[in-house]
Amino acid sequence: MAAERLAEAGCTVTVYDRMPSVGRKLLMAGRGGLNLTHSEALEAFLPRYGAATTPLTPLIEAFPPTALIAWADGLGQETFVGSSGRVFPKSLKASPLLRAWLARLRTLGVEIRPRHDWTGWDAEGRLRFNTPDGAVTAAPDATILALGGASWPRLGSNGAWAPVLAKAGVAVSALRPANGGFDVAWSDIVRERFAGEPLKGVAVTFGRVRLRGEAMVTRHGLEGGAIYALSAALRDAIEKEGSARLWFDLRPDMTEGQLTTRIAQTPANQSLANRLRKALHLTPLETNLLREAHGKDLPSDPAALATAIKGAPLTLTGLRPIARAISTAGGVAFAAVDARLMLTARPGVFVAGEMLDWEAPTGGYLLQASFATGVAAARGVLSRLSGAAKA
Ligand SMILES: Cc1cc2nc3c(=O)[nH]c(=O)nc-3n(C[C@H](O)[C@H](O)[C@H](O)COP(=O)(O)OP(=O)(O)OC[C@H]3O[C@@H](n4cnc5c(N)ncnc54)[C@H](O)[C@@H]3O)c2cc1C
Repeated sequence: MAAERLAEAGCTVTVYDRMPSVGRKLLMAGRGGLNLTHSEALEAFLPRYGAATTPLTPLIEAFPPTALIAWADGLGQETFVGSSGRVFPKSLKASPLLRAWLARLRTLGVEIRPRHDWTGWDAEGRLRFNTPDGAVTAAPDATILALGGASWPRLGSNGAWAPVLAKAGVAVSALRPANGGFDVAWSDIVRERFAGEPLKGVAVTFGRVRLRGEAMVTRHGLEGGAIYALSAALRDAIEKEGSARLWFDLRPDMTEGQLTTRIAQTPANQSLANRLRKALHLTPLETNLLREAHGKDLPSDPAALATAIKGAPLTLTGLRPIARAISTAGGVAFAAVDARLMLTARPGVFVAGEMLDWEAPTGGYLLQASFATGVAAARGVLSRLSGAAKA
């Protein structure tokens, strides 16, 4: 995005990437339909960035969701708003968008140099890259680092830049998983029989936050939209306390009283699993989840069962590795850049995207902030170069 803006403004732009091709994580995001942004009003949108809301607000206001939607449209990717308010291209893919985008960049004269792994600066302050043909250097008028976080390293972003920047005097907070899964000490039955099965339409509560959504049981524990939405708070709690207790309400649309009445109408001589299936359509996974939460011997009393269904606690014992997380928390501190996203420790070097220290839930907020900071960094470069030209 930064390359496009700069080339449009007449700059000669070279994009270096350590991978054999660019945009691999964008393509991976396309597997989930490519949730580009969210349609909610900015007053609701901006607080999704939590502690980074203040520094990101002017940048997203300058390149808001409407601008991103118009940009995608300009690349032939008309969008639609899904039932959850999330915005997707109609194709539900990233590849047509990336293809059109790369063609546009080519037309603008942007040169892409793949297999260039940036490793830092040499003694003369030149950018240093490892390539299959050996080390090369470059000395551009300005540099934008947009090296991503540390999740899914096989797609390119591996976080190797963090110690390089820290050594250069840039404040970098530890890279941690965001929107990732958690470990649960499942019984063998759940691990063997139910890994890969979703828990649909449940409500999960952690602390004072309750939300509706879907969770996915994995061999290791839990992941999925509802879990990701709480993942920052869960991660912080696990880091502090060693574990976190997450409460499931398996039938959020019904009251305890309604559940009790329905269960009481089933014959008490039938197996518990059968009664719960007939009364409430509880799936085998849901019944087993109750056993994980409350112990093997569930109560047969309808009221006690209803209480167990409305509040089933699971203990999360750890975080899944950052390599499997959707995104990364931590990164270059906003205190280390100026309002133009230029590193104060390295004048002429700008930072954009997920490598900056912000995090947000899934819902299109990740790409929106990545694109908006790319636009901002390009604007920063242009203002610096025009200042230099005047001086
Ligand atoms: C499975 C998955 C699904 C996702 N789905 C969505 C979604 O639907 N909606 C959404 O908003 N977000 C989604 N995301 C997150 C989103 O893709 C990222 O937040 C976004 O791509 C970050 O953009 P970026 O440009 O900062 O970093 P990246 O897209 O990671 O790009 C960084 C680039 O820098 C290159 N690089 C890294 N280090 C070096 C180096 N030392 N030298 C040279 N090149 C280097 C990498 O090869 C890479 O090409 C998803 C992520 C994953 C993993």
